[in-house]
Amino acid sequence: MMISKNYDVFLFDLDGVIYIGDKALPGAVASLKRLREEKKAIRFLTNDPCVTRETIVKRLHKLGISASIDEVFTAGWATADYLVSEGIKKAYILGNDQLKSEIQKAGIDLTEDQAEAVVIGWDQNITFQDVHKAVNLIRCGASFIAANGDKTFPAANGPAPATGAIVAAVKTAAAKEPIIIGKPASSIFEKVLESFEDKERCVMIGDTPETDIVGANQIGITSVLVSEQNTLFPAKHDFRNPDVVIRDLKDLFDNEIKAEVRKKPDFQWTEQVKAGVAGIIIKESSSVLLMKRADNGLWGIPSGHVEPGETVEQAIIREIEEETGLVVKVSKMIGVYSDPSSQTFIYPDGRVSHFITNCFQCDVIGGTLKKSTEEAMEIRYFDIHELPEHLLPMHPRWLDDALEMKENAFIR
Ligand SMILES: [Mg+2]
Repeated sequence: MMISKNYDVFLFDLDGVIYIGDKALPGAVASLKRLREEKKAIRFLTNDPCVTRETIVKRLHKLGISASIDEVFTAGWATADYLVSEGIKKAYILGNDQLKSEIQKAGIDLTEDQAEAVVIGWDQNITFQDVHKAVNLIRCGASFIAANGDKTFPAANGPAPATGAIVAAVKTAAAKEPIIIGKPASSIFEKVLESFEDKERCVMIGDTPETDIVGANQIGITSVLVSEQNTLFPAKHDFRNPDVVIRDLKDLFDNEIKAEVRKKPDFQWTEQVKAGVAGIIIKESSSVLLMKRADNGLWGIPSGHVEPGETVEQAIIREIEEETGLVVKVSKMIGVYSDPSSQTFIYPDGRVSHFITNCFQCDVIGGTLKKSTEEAMEIRYFDIHELPEHLLPMHPRWLDDALEMKENAFIR
């Protein structure tokens, strides 16, 4: 069945899907008209931080597309909404007048003096001094908010630096990660979908894999990429891969084209894959060394990640000494764990990492077991049949694998 029949709610990106500049794209006007006739719900979702919702409505009307303000969600509007929800009263804005007016309309003072937040949008007149002020404010504790993280936008003479490029300058100098408001953030999709219950009847149509498609996959709705090429990323579960690729909006009504809806992943998307290590120390074949992690209060086997310049073996030896005071040697490898469903972690500051954890069995050859360290609130041996309740999710499996290997070795 054609795509249009399978869904009730259509989320459209604007630039590159409905229009480019002041020209509607082929099939866009007629396709939207047909969806209206079929009583479909339509929402427009743009990362453009330079336009108010009113401006978008006017632009669509000019092209012959009907739209109301309530149907339009812009990164600028969502940013203003976020500032209000965070109770922010004063903000310093790097952006154009429309972004400033959107934020001012929400009741926020635009000021550099005692700004509680720095908001990065886009304006071609942003200067080094503006970036410098933003960095200083963030270093002094202001929240760092980005209307979006888009790297480039299409311009007559090739890709031009977009909001994300300005964000990168501020982020590099402030040494802090921003909160990104626009697509692919789930929060903006949640806002749009608030009034629709059945997610299976919702579809996102966009032309940018990193924002439109990742966002749709993250929130668990069908994703349609508008593209001349079948841009596919090598991994099947890469969130940037859409459920279907179409050439233009006319394809929504083509009986031959349907979306192959994949099972939505149960992990957070990250482009960062890191090498991790974990070490199992078993004493007298019946007890195992665990530590209560200072960062989250959960029990776990000693673990960490590989630092530049070291092997996995050197990394686990170092981690165990730092975390417990014991000096160990690696006796054997238990396994390599990489399933993103259990190996993807979200840090309190919003960073996400997918760990490939190399798990080893280790033997103690020296050192003194400490009661606690900077990284561990408590360190002690547990009987393998009486493990603590609050154990990190993957660790029982690692322990089982370690014990099973031991048995196998014994049987052989
Ligand atoms: Mg676009």
